[in-house]
Amino acid sequence: MKVLKFGGTSVGSVKNLQRIKDILTIEKDDKIVVCSAMSGVTDILVKLTQYARLKDDEGVNTITSQLETKHREVIDSLIKDESVKMELYDHLSFMINEIFDLCHRQFSESIEAQIVTYGETLLTYIFSGYLNAEGVVNTLVPAKDFMFVENTDSPNINLVAQRFKKILKSEEPSLIITQGFVCRDHLGQISTLKRGGSDYTATIIGAAVNASEVQIWTDIDGLHNNDPRYVDDTNPIAHLTYNEAAELAYFGAKILHPQTVSPVVDKDIPVLLKNTFDPGATGTVISDRVHQKGLKAISAKDNITAIKIKSNRMLMAHGYLKQIFEVFDRYATSIDMITTSEIAISLTIDNTEFLDQIVAEIETYAEITVEEQYSIICIVGESVIKDQKSYKLFEILNHISVRMISYGGSDNNISLLVPTKDKIATLRFLNKKLFQKEKETVL
Ligand code: ASP
Ligand code: MG
Repeated sequence: MKVLKFGGTSVGSVKNLQRIKDILTIEKDDKIVVCSAMSGVTDILVKLTQYARLKDDEGVNTITSQLETKHREVIDSLIKDESVKMELYDHLSFMINEIFDLCHRQFSESIEAQIVTYGETLLTYIFSGYLNAEGVVNTLVPAKDFMFVENTDSPNINLVAQRFKKILKSEEPSLIITQGFVCRDHLGQISTLKRGGSDYTATIIGAAVNASEVQIWTDIDGLHNNDPRYVDDTNPIAHLTYNEAAELAYFGAKILHPQTVSPVVDKDIPVLLKNTFDPGATGTVISDRVHQKGLKAISAKDNITAIKIKSNRMLMAHGYLKQIFEVFDRYATSIDMITTSEIAISLTIDNTEFLDQIVAEIETYAEITVEEQYSIICIVGESVIKDQKSYKLFEILNHISVRMISYGGSDNNISLLVPTKDKIATLRFLNKKLFQKEKETVL
């Protein structure tokens, strides 16, 4: 059994849905297919929740009819058989009415989650109907019937597995279509795996059914060694370890949701990153095999806040760090980078929800300064700190004012904190220094 996940762009147009049908036909194993919403639809639904919260009827009307038109057009061009088309139109209207009703209920977190996950519901319904009409027989299994994820940081895979088995009972369909992103929380209420969470759905399901592999189909030929949005001449990486992929995804690589690999690591299920627009391309294989040690890739994460905490009481005192960390812990705010001197500590956070409270507490015994608009540049590879090539990264200090460096925290990661305005220059400089063949010496 394989799990195949198709992202927003992959399911984002009629042409692409037809491409996916071809991919599914070529892949002979039993499959569970996890789909995202069509690209842009979840953003529209987020906007819809804002109108619903504000009881803005005009906004709700406009967006629900926009959604209906968009999906109606897909049905219209995708489905040839008139009676199937009518059936899908009818059910689309039914689902749009459900969304409309939700918008008029007492607003709550669960209502919000129900609305934003409708993008996946609408798309999978149409896609499953299309495949069946084309003779690609499949069963649509709603994720809300089995994705019981009480703790999104550490899903109980056995629970998902049990629920899944219960739904399938004795029948074992060879092609199942389901939705990414949606889950049920500890109260059994509809919730989400956060934006971009469909990748995570795929690996949770992969672990639950002991899949032979999980394929993440997207619009690029694998994970690149630098951010292709800002840097020319980047290359896809053929093999990554789970560690490398997790670091890169956490520190900004947009192609993967940060938690994607965690459910499959223990079961050693490989995750393949594939390109819907070039199915023959090798892509990236993520597994526990170390194919090559040393420098692999660079990624960047924005919206980082740097916090400096200074106090003379720290001098030769013990227990000081504990006191500081406890404050962050109380506000469930995780720390990414950290550097210390004898009387000061600098650290970074990306979640500033409780920043005011944290500052207020620490201010009572230390001087605290907060600086925003930083980016973490993360240089990753198994044993990267032993790779002689990577030392060239320190030449960056001649060009950019680096605020913090984290080196040696693990063998696999070196992180730099730079002002976001210097992010692109840093990525380009590092690309030149670390990945381009020694052109300078040849010249
Ligand atoms: N549709 C959701 C989003 O846009 C989940 C996903 O695409 O992974 O965030
Ligand atoms: Mg994604």
